[in-house]
Amino acid sequence: MRLEEKLYTLRYKKDEESHLSINDVDKCIECEKENGNPMPCISICPANVYSWEDNKIVIGYENCVECGACRIACPYENIHWEYPKFGKGIALRYG
Ligand code: SF4
Ligand code: SF4
Repeated sequence: MRLEEKLYTLRYKKDEESHLSINDVDKCIECEKENGNPMPCISICPANVYSWEDNKIVIGYENCVECGACRIACPYENIHWEYPKFGKGIALRYG
């Protein structure tokens, strides 16, 4: 099964507030200079949550599949990550 097909098996209930945030946006600029684009958070995220636009990181948190990989991959420990509020976020469609 392709990744896109697997992602289709998830159901999303959007939280009004992001459960992901960046601690220090200046660190991302440093990270981009050091690692180039794509930076680690962009490379590792299976759901394309992160993008780099106008010299800053943009987070499309609504698509997050809650795997936690970005928090581990960020070399600056610069991602504040929490589970979405109870009842929000992802649910499995078949299980
Ligand atoms: S990997 Fe971390 S520091 Fe680098 S751009 Fe992503 S959030 Fe910012
Ligand atoms: S937790 Fe997983 S899906 Fe969510 S933003 Fe991080 S890497 Fe992407």
